[in-house]
Parts: sequence; structure tokens; C-alpha cells
Amino acid sequence: MAARHWNWFWLGVAVICAAVFLLRPQEPPKVIQADSAVKVAEPQPKLLALTFDDGPRRATTAKLLEGLEQRGVQATFFLIGKQIEGNEDLIRQMADSGHQIGIHTFDHVELRNLSPADIHRQLDPTREALRAILGDRELLLRPPYGFVDDTLLQQADSPIILWSVDPEDWHDRNVQREVAHIVSHVQDGDIILMHDIFSESVDAALQVVDQLHQAGYAFVTVDDLLLSRGITPETGKIYRHAHPD
Ligand SMILES: [Zn+2]
Repeated sequence: MAARHWNWFWLGVAVICAAVFLLRPQEPPKVIQADSAVKVAEPQPKLLALTFDDGPRRATTAKLLEGLEQRGVQATFFLIGKQIEGNEDLIRQMADSGHQIGIHTFDHVELRNLSPADIHRQLDPTREALRAILGDRELLLRPPYGFVDDTLLQQADSPIILWSVDPEDWHDRNVQREVAHIVSHVQDGDIILMHDIFSESVDAALQVVDQLHQAGYAFVTVDDLLLSRGITPETGKIYRHAHPD
């Protein structure tokens, strides 16, 4: 009889062990494996386009290019035609580093209320000077002060790029204020307006890059920003940002 009791005992032990095995907590499923065939959708990166007007100016633009290079950041430069001569090496360096280049008139004049002939007197020589350095390429237009009228839309021969964040860096040239303004106003898809002719703006821009990199933003050219959001820039159309839908 004692042996039979022991059989029931061991059967009971076996049932409890099986129950414990079957009810054990499951391991969470593995989500990402480097070379797994199952791909998990990556979150879309938050993108910003830094843009710089009124250059090139050797003293400040060269320092900015160096700082952007160190950070692996691409930006967009809207250049003034009459400042191209003598700065050809800087402009070539911009292009070689992957920055985008656009035009900002020859003499930094307002393009609103100009005749078609006067508009072309500002845009065409600037385009030609840049193409002589960089080869034939599309060049975006940023009109000074952001002033646009119907005649300009018809005559621009370029997409027109305005902006969605403006720290007014020309105003008091205060690095901390500019950085705080940009960091507190940006959202995914913004185009930021700055001027690479001020050393304070260069310092502010690099601090902004460092702070917003930590916040998960990546900096790209205007074209890359627009294209990554499915927008193909068109001649005579205005673009201010590429916020997600
Ligand atoms: Zn300007």
C-alpha cells in the first residue's frame, strides 16, 4: 500500500510541474534583430532646413561651413550675386560639402513691384555666375525680405523658398536670444531663416544644431526636406515649410 501512495505522490508532483511549465511567463517577442527578415517600421526622423541669406562673407561663412562640416549637417545658402566674385572657393566648398545653393538677387533689392526686365537683371547674372562655378543646375530663389508679387511668380524661373521660423538674427545679434527663439519655436518640417554674415548668427546656428540634434532632429537641405515629404519644388511656387500632414 505504501508503494501505491508514493505513485500517487509522484503523479501529483508531475502534474504540478507540468502546470508550472505551461503557465510560466512568456518571454516578450523579440522586436528588432539586425539581420532579421522581419522589418519593423522605423519612426520618421524629424527634419529641419537651416537656411542662410546674404552671403557669402568670407569671415563668417567660412567659420559656419567648418562648424556644419564638423557636425555632418547640410544647409541651404541663398547668395547675393555681387558677393560671388572673390568667394568662388567658398561656394565650391559649399557644394562639395553637400549644401544647397540658391539665389538672393544680385544687389539685395526688393523684387516686388519690379518690371520683368528688372527682375531678370537681378536674377539672371546671379544664376550665370553660380553656374559658371558649379555647372548647370537648378537654383532656388529666396526673394529679399520675402516680398513676392504675381510678376515675380511668373518671372522667377525657380521655386521660391520662404520660411516658417525667423529669429530675426539681424535685429539685436544676441546669440542666446536667437538660440532660445529657434529651439522653442521649431517643429518637424520647419525652414529656419538666418544670415551667415553675422558672427553671432554663426554661433547661434551651431548651438541650435547641437541642441536640436539632442532633441532628435536632423538637418537637411531645402530640397531634401521637401522631397522627403513628397513635395517636388516647382518653378514659380512658394514653399514655407514641409510640416507632416
Ligand atoms: Zn537678405
